[in-house]
Amino acid sequence: MANADGELLFAPLGGIGEIGMNLSIYGYGDGRRRQWLIVDCGVSFAAEEHLPGVDLILPDIRYLVEERRNIVGLVLTHAHEDHMGALIDLWPRLNVPIYATPFASTLFEARRASEPRAPKIPINVVPVGGHLELGPFTVDFISVAHSIPESNALAIHTPLGTVLHTGDWRIDPAPLVGSKTDTAKLTALGDKGVLALIGDSTNAIRDGRSPSEADVAKTLAELVRTAPARVAITTFASHVDRIRAVADAARAAGREVVVVGRAMERVIQVARETGYLDGVQDFRSVETYGYLPPDKVLALCTGSQGEPRAALSRIAEDAHPEVTLTKGDRVIFSSRAIPGNEKAVDRVINGLVAQGVEVVTDRSHLVHASGHPRRDELRDMIGWTRPQILIPAHGEALHLAEHAKLARGAGVPRVLVCRNGDLVRLAPGGAEIVDEIPAGRLYKDGALLVDAAARTVVARRRLAFAGIVSVALALSENGTLVLDPEIELIGIPEADAAGQPLHEIARDAVEEAIETLPKPRRRDPDEVAEAVRRAVRSAIAERWNKKPICHVHVLTV
Ligand SMILES: [Zn+2]
Ligand SMILES: [Zn+2]
Repeated sequence: MANADGELLFAPLGGIGEIGMNLSIYGYGDGRRRQWLIVDCGVSFAAEEHLPGVDLILPDIRYLVEERRNIVGLVLTHAHEDHMGALIDLWPRLNVPIYATPFASTLFEARRASEPRAPKIPINVVPVGGHLELGPFTVDFISVAHSIPESNALAIHTPLGTVLHTGDWRIDPAPLVGSKTDTAKLTALGDKGVLALIGDSTNAIRDGRSPSEADVAKTLAELVRTAPARVAITTFASHVDRIRAVADAARAAGREVVVVGRAMERVIQVARETGYLDGVQDFRSVETYGYLPPDKVLALCTGSQGEPRAALSRIAEDAHPEVTLTKGDRVIFSSRAIPGNEKAVDRVINGLVAQGVEVVTDRSHLVHASGHPRRDELRDMIGWTRPQILIPAHGEALHLAEHAKLARGAGVPRVLVCRNGDLVRLAPGGAEIVDEIPAGRLYKDGALLVDAAARTVVARRRLAFAGIVSVALALSENGTLVLDPEIELIGIPEADAAGQPLHEIARDAVEEAIETLPKPRRRDPDEVAEAVRRAVRSAIAERWNKKPICHVHVLTV
């Protein structure tokens, strides 16, 4: 029964205002005692230019660590990295029960096992279409079509009303492997009453409906059938529908499928274990590639996002140990660049074109369909569920705004755009942002997690932009230089426009700075260091128009 002063709350800790890093929490109770349900725990991928040396971006969960005892569980909607990729790093800080369907839990375990230092993380398996009772929350898994098997919308029932958390979804009347969106269950939910819908906004700027996987499969089959020599196809490693389409296209054209890339091998193994590739022929290992005639082989590769270490990038650089492509071969990008990855993808495409390889993308052929709902599909979801409140999620600011506008146009009484860290009260009394909770980002930096607000990566970016000057000085007690200063310039040009070495300019600046410093101040090593630092930076900036970082070590002897 609803507590007289109970509240139903929602807060995103990631995934709002960005594509990636999805983590939402739902709270039930009053100010003295709340219980929390976590939905998803994903990562974002860092663009190298902006975050040098950072592999992944994770949501900052310090609020949840504090609330750990009040968390009833963590439910995964599906197995994409932007929904479960942060678990390996963050779960040990929470140690709460995780719930997922068989495909997600098997794929997660395979991913975890592939990381040498990953802790053991238990997952409770929920059957497809299953049901959970977690404290005050009753969670129903509703199957939706998406670009990975077993995607789920979650109907979260509470004494104060039902929330539909759509997760990633689309409508596909003819998926090859995955489920259809369970419109009957969604409509029944709407009949009973949906308080709030938290919904996928990724494609809210695209009109109409997404094409079906079946149509994509047809195009792929035709492109494989008509290819004159070798064919390579890249797609998202976890896109089992697409893997099946590629397998069918290869079989019809009398080609063997060779799998290139570990992430793809892993997903294929998991998909075979869980029955999603039943009836699909065996694939060949990468070692067989060189022995197969060009018109009898199809390479299924990782690297659709231009990831530098993935199979297709290495093939494009002609640096793959087993797989080569030459003039007349055909590469199909059965994918689209995730925002931020466009440059990396173009680099791979250009590498291939430079080798004389024909490249086919979704710009010219229907070789990819997104896993997210376009505008007509969003309207359908609103029509089935008829929510009182709609909060756009899973999107950048533009996607959220467009989804909000569409929802208002479709007659949703209350539409609220929020930000990561906003604490929204859904009931009682309509949706309001009532508080802010700590939210932010963590960077996976080598083996460590660092706070994005720390200076680490900012300093690294400055180093990358303007290099560093390192100065070591030996001063006598009365403040005179005992030895020539040791000066090292890293990442800085050799000479200025007139040809004078910047090293010399730095040395002159050091000596002059010490000489002009009044005698008594010269005895203070910190004063000397600061004067030298300023002098070196401005002397170099004068010639270069850029200010390097400058480190000065003063030794008194
Ligand atoms: Zn997804
Ligand atoms: Zn997603």
